[in-house]
Amino acid sequence: MPAVRIDAIHFYHNGGEKNTEAELYISIYNEKERLKRAMMRLGLFWLLSLGSIPIIFAHWVLVPGFFIAGPIAAIMTYRVKQATNHASGRCPCCEQQVVINLEPKDSIPSWTYCPQCKQSIHLDH
Ligand SMILES: [Zn+2]
Repeated sequence: MPAVRIDAIHFYHNGGEKNTEAELYISIYNEKERLKRAMMRLGLFWLLSLGSIPIIFAHWVLVPGFFIAGPIAAIMTYRVKQATNHASGRCPCCEQQVVINLEPKDSIPSWTYCPQCKQSIHLDH
């Protein structure tokens, strides 16, 4: 399991007119976890390469494509040292406790919508 770092951030609404305190959860991958994730990605792509063999005609492209893409995807995965998980806090609009799921590559500042009231929220320090 990766270590989780919690950063203090704020949810802003309406250009900072309203704001609330929130927490940003970030997974931190150590050397061993990064290598494990990279090997799993390589295994997946090479499995897809093997699985593409019975597909008539398309296998001429899919088999070498997945085989070559495997190491490239593994290197890209290995370089990922941290991933953003989610942000948690009270919405500045509806005052409800919300959890906002974020993409691993998302960074702060970020703009999104409240899952409860659908108002725009600006995530920043
Ligand atoms: Zn809301």
